[in-house]
Amino acid sequence: MEKIKMTTPIVEMDGDEMTRILWQYIKDELLLPFVDLHTEYYDLGLVHRNETDDQVTVDAAHATQKYGVAVKCATITPNAARVKEYGLKEMYKSPNGTIRAILDGTVFRAPIQVKGIEPCVKNWKKPITIARHAYGDVYKANEMVIPGPGKVELVYTDENGEETRALVHTFTEPGIVQGQHNLNRSIESFARSCFNYALDTKQDLWFATKDTISKKYDHTFKDLFQEIYEKEYEARFKEAGITYFYTLIDDAVARVMKAEGGFIWACKNYDGDVMSDMISSACGSLAMMTSVLVSPSGVYEYEAAHGTVMRHYYKHLAGEETSTNSVATIFAWSGALRKCGELDQLPELTEFADHLEKACIDTIESGKMTKDLALITDLEHPVVLNSLDFIKAVRETLEASYQ
Ligand code: NAP
Ligand code: MG
Repeated sequence: MEKIKMTTPIVEMDGDEMTRILWQYIKDELLLPFVDLHTEYYDLGLVHRNETDDQVTVDAAHATQKYGVAVKCATITPNAARVKEYGLKEMYKSPNGTIRAILDGTVFRAPIQVKGIEPCVKNWKKPITIARHAYGDVYKANEMVIPGPGKVELVYTDENGEETRALVHTFTEPGIVQGQHNLNRSIESFARSCFNYALDTKQDLWFATKDTISKKYDHTFKDLFQEIYEKEYEARFKEAGITYFYTLIDDAVARVMKAEGGFIWACKNYDGDVMSDMISSACGSLAMMTSVLVSPSGVYEYEAAHGTVMRHYYKHLAGEETSTNSVATIFAWSGALRKCGELDQLPELTEFADHLEKACIDTIESGKMTKDLALITDLEHPVVLNSLDFIKAVRETLEASYQ
């Protein structure tokens, strides 16, 4: 078979530890034999981030803006222990945070469903995609412990020094208080990312907040979504045969539990944090989850939702066998290749991405899987493979699908 050609390069961001090992196995076994892989390579491994004072992360994000599609390996976010372990010049910020701040996006996460690893919620037949707003609210709040009686107010001082005040509470006893914020610009770009992703994947979009209780804060989210929908997207949604609807967060939770799946659920920052963990654990494993950052300007960064699997890496270094699940990392590559195929109108590349994903699913459904899945599958007598042998089994399935 002749190798599939590419036009625009994919921005390739290599990473750390066990996922860096998987990254190379995936390229060697599943990509390079089939695709004339054209990437612009950025080494986001911690050693190289340290050598470049983290400039490489910024460069990789800018390259993503330039070329449009990136694929990222999991990376270490350094803490004090990592600073010591790697002899770092400083405690660098999370690469995902740096990249997100430059690309300004929304993270979409959906479980990868296979037969034999069934969701706990029996009626979920199709994946539910969570779209999590990644700015503000409780994650950028300020808070205070109130020691005793006294008055707490919100005070807004405009540029001319004019004050507007609102009473939070007149305390007669000890308590607590918190001030949150968000920005219209960020909410609007969250909304556009969600609408674009719904059109892209031809799925309905749900959005929910608690606007009945939070009549200004949550209501602003609801209003901005509605305004942008009517002005910019309603006609295109009708044409694509998909719907957008808003409901209260408690109603959304009740409906999700009864739904079949196959839609996007847009969540405010905190709701998205909590609900994406609920959906992924109900579906089995973080390694069976796709994750993509979509920017409002239409730039895409694909990644795995899990970390660098440090515990397995140290076993690997000690020469022990590992059985690390590479599915989320393979799907990060297939997602990027498919998007590249769509943008550059390369149907063979898009088809390859479909074949690669199907090969992963078929391999698992045939009973061959890594240990994490073997522990939770309903399939009888699963064959537990090590990290590399699982990838080789996927390659066999993939080769067969091209014959
Ligand atoms: P982790 O890498 O997600 O792994 C935690 C545990 O989950 C593993 O020890 C393993 O459990 C299981 N697991 C995760 N992915 C797996 C896979 N693909 N196959 C099989 N089992 C898997 O989280 P962590 O160990 O807390 O974090 C390690 C590093 O990752 C940290 O330095 C953190 O900063 C970084 N991190 C990066 C990202 C990112 O780049 N997107 C996200 C999160 C964390 P068992 O050990 O029980 O087998
Ligand atoms: Mg969380």
